[in-house]
Amino acid sequence: MRLVLLGPPGAGKGTQSSRLAGELKAVHLSSGDILRAERKSQTDLGKLAQGYMDAGSLVPDDLILRMMIGRISGPDASGGFVLDGFPRTIPQAKGLDERLAKLGHPIDRVVNIEADDAVVARRLTGRWSCPKDGRVFHESYSPPKRKGVCDLCGTALVRRKDDEPQVVSQRLTTYHAETRPLVEYYRGRGVLTSIDGNAEIDDVYARIVAACRGNG
Ligand code: AMP
Repeated sequence: MRLVLLGPPGAGKGTQSSRLAGELKAVHLSSGDILRAERKSQTDLGKLAQGYMDAGSLVPDDLILRMMIGRISGPDASGGFVLDGFPRTIPQAKGLDERLAKLGHPIDRVVNIEADDAVVARRLTGRWSCPKDGRVFHESYSPPKRKGVCDLCGTALVRRKDDEPQVVSQRLTTYHAETRPLVEYYRGRGVLTSIDGNAEIDDVYARIVAACRGNG
């Protein structure tokens, strides 16, 4: 299956797509994760992307398209994929459609996870992770035993720069201006299902699975 998960930052696209990809035996392709890896290795793309990411704005379309089309066209994605965080603009969606038309297999379904700004802002700004073992905590929903410290290794927890309140607010503004129009774009193509993402992770997952089976 070839799926796209749409939705605002903090809608749970990452968690849901990785679980879904595991179940469907498809590859999970997260543009945000790929960019963070590029940053970590300080590649040319990573260096270019970091300013945009830290400001909560989008990395230019041509860079993203080149990066993602490369992954989608690779052999590991030939059995199906779940796209998370891409496409994020109309030109990206059009570039993706063109490429998939050439490969001969279009997108099967786009699941739009709807979530209120206040809900996603709370999820993102409360998220803290351990720089050593990668464990993620949330100050309200899954707090560490000792405030600010990893339960497993005692390392001080850090917040992603783009989860700081001002940047989150900019990411949401960017979402509404640039990404939200994709809902109409995919609705027009007859592949969109919208689901309520304000609920618990397991409930949202069940709704996504139903949407993929065509019962959504
Ligand atoms: P995410 O983890 O998906 O929220 O992505 C983190 C940041 O990476 C975003 O705020 C953007 O700066 C950048 N980014 C990720 N995916 C894209 C994309 N498809 N187009 C442009 N920028 C992106």
